[in-house]
Amino acid sequence: MDMHVHLTGHGDRLATAETIREFLDQARRVGLKQIGFADHDVYYNELNLPLIREVAEEYPDLKVAVGLEVDYRPSDEGKIKTLLAQFPFDFVIGSVHELNGWAFDYPEEEAVHRQKDPDGMYEEYFRWVEMAAASDLFTTMGHFDLIKLFGVRPRTDILRLAGGALEQIQKKGLVIELNTAGRYKPVGEYYPEVKIIEEIKRRGIPMTLSSDAHRAEHVGRDAGRAAQLLKDLGIKEIIGFDHGQKEYYPL
Ligand SMILES: [Zn+2]
Ligand SMILES: [Zn+2]
Repeated sequence: MDMHVHLTGHGDRLATAETIREFLDQARRVGLKQIGFADHDVYYNELNLPLIREVAEEYPDLKVAVGLEVDYRPSDEGKIKTLLAQFPFDFVIGSVHELNGWAFDYPEEEAVHRQKDPDGMYEEYFRWVEMAAASDLFTTMGHFDLIKLFGVRPRTDILRLAGGALEQIQKKGLVIELNTAGRYKPVGEYYPEVKIIEEIKRRGIPMTLSSDAHRAEHVGRDAGRAAQLLKDLGIKEIIGFDHGQKEYYPL
């Protein structure tokens, strides 16, 4: 499966039936059982979510879920709640891309990452992830350790820094994605790293698979090797969604 693809990329293409078919054709080509659309909430007004459900009927062999990737900011919780009430989403990914107005995942921000105290930066990031998990707005946490994207590592053990966020995710029954896009960032590894996946497994937090594709040809990228990694770590199933309910797929 691939539970995180961006039909409209960064607002660079239209949500037409033709574009939807390009994504679904690629999903078929790479043998996915389920695909989940999760465009960025900032493009919500340009999306055509009912059209995804309509075109999906042409693909009875493929389970198509309609979700959204929401930029989490603690001050936006009310706004997010209102937005999510507008459509019966199958799943909603909560992602932290910004800390107090600092949009930290743009390539030009790398120098800022290197100037900051790494432990403080990681602590703040995971505090926001913890608040996102506690907000009751999401089914899934996006790219759990995104803050590492430029390869800046903390001095403190990552499990200590991420512990509060993992605790909250476990308590709320949320899903964490194994997001393969990190392999194509400077850090060059999955989100999250293996040590965190082992802790996720220990806590019994369910996982899903995602490419974070921003174009059709990246749908399902590395899904096979990512599934194999989870299997090697002793994880036996991954999660799809239908109207907010988890669906279990054996690995
Ligand atoms: Zn994201
Ligand atoms: Zn994304």
